[in-house]
Amino acid sequence: MRDLEQLVRKNIWNLKPYSCARDEFKGEASVFLDANENPFYSGYNRYPDPRQLALKAKISKIKNIGAEHIMLGNGSDEPIDLVYRIFCEPGIDNVVAMEPTYGMYGVCADINNVEYRRIPLNADYSLNVKAMLDAADSHTKVMWLCSPNNPTGNLMNRNDLRTILKSFDGIVVIDEAYIDFSSETSWLTEIDTYSNLIILQTFSKAWGMAGARCGMAFASTQIIELFNKVKYPYNINSLTQNIISERIDKVAEKENQVSIILEERSRLAAELAQSPIVECVYPSDANFLLVKVADADKTYKALVEKGTIVRNRNTVKLCGNCLRITIGTKEENEILVKEFRSEGV
Ligand SMILES: *Cc1c(COP(=O)(O)O)cnc(C)c1O
Repeated sequence: MRDLEQLVRKNIWNLKPYSCARDEFKGEASVFLDANENPFYSGYNRYPDPRQLALKAKISKIKNIGAEHIMLGNGSDEPIDLVYRIFCEPGIDNVVAMEPTYGMYGVCADINNVEYRRIPLNADYSLNVKAMLDAADSHTKVMWLCSPNNPTGNLMNRNDLRTILKSFDGIVVIDEAYIDFSSETSWLTEIDTYSNLIILQTFSKAWGMAGARCGMAFASTQIIELFNKVKYPYNINSLTQNIISERIDKVAEKENQVSIILEERSRLAAELAQSPIVECVYPSDANFLLVKVADADKTYKALVEKGTIVRNRNTVKLCGNCLRITIGTKEENEILVKEFRSEGV
């Protein structure tokens, strides 16, 4: 990869970050008069830990990776935005992304005025490695990859991802939001091998904490330090830090829910495949199914009228007449299957 200094925007490389009270004094004390907080206890009268060390220690244990390799964000959406703000000079630099994929990469590119180069997946939703690499030039700072991918549901081939990691000399982001539902292992073990790799995961999907807004980025310590410099000092509030920490203590419950969802995924896929309007249920490594139907707009509308909302992906590239259906509870999935059998759907 290019030297990190060549990849980072000059103003960010030279940035002297805001130093908050909790940065300047860390440690035990009995009287805190340094942060202009209200001294009367409310449970939340104190600022939260800006580096979330207690929570990171727990994540470090379950992910088997050093806390210095972890950045926590307000959902994965925060590290996605920060990647642009750290690496991409507006109006000059560009990024390359597979298409279709998660919409936030493109929206954040637009917000940051960074050119976003969309490279279509192959017809079988595999990566077009050559086209991705060919699309990159000296101003390409980042490649966006998502595995398992949203909305197609499939894993990207490991060798394809490795080729990109080895051949592209900029930052490679692999978004693993759905990795807990996948048969493949995470790329986390490769953080030390590839200094240009950033892995995104989240508490929003398998962990069942979408409302708490907590995403994770894993990368080299140098890249994590850049994230720490640029993020809002208190980006993860105390309520979220506490509640995510409690959720991690119940890892067995999460594992149990994931196994139920996986069982339901195969059952729902088999049931939907029986429906005369279903043309294809794509293989999924995620907690949703991409389902091609005869007329997606019609089926979408008919389901809405029955009170069931799925995601219509009809206008998405390579996803014509496709619906993206999240795996629900057994009861919810049964309702959906019944609706697929009923008239007018
Ligand atoms: C759902 C999803 C996320 C999660 O976003 P959060 O901001 O953490 O809730 C990230 N990436 C992809 C591909 C997703 O589908």
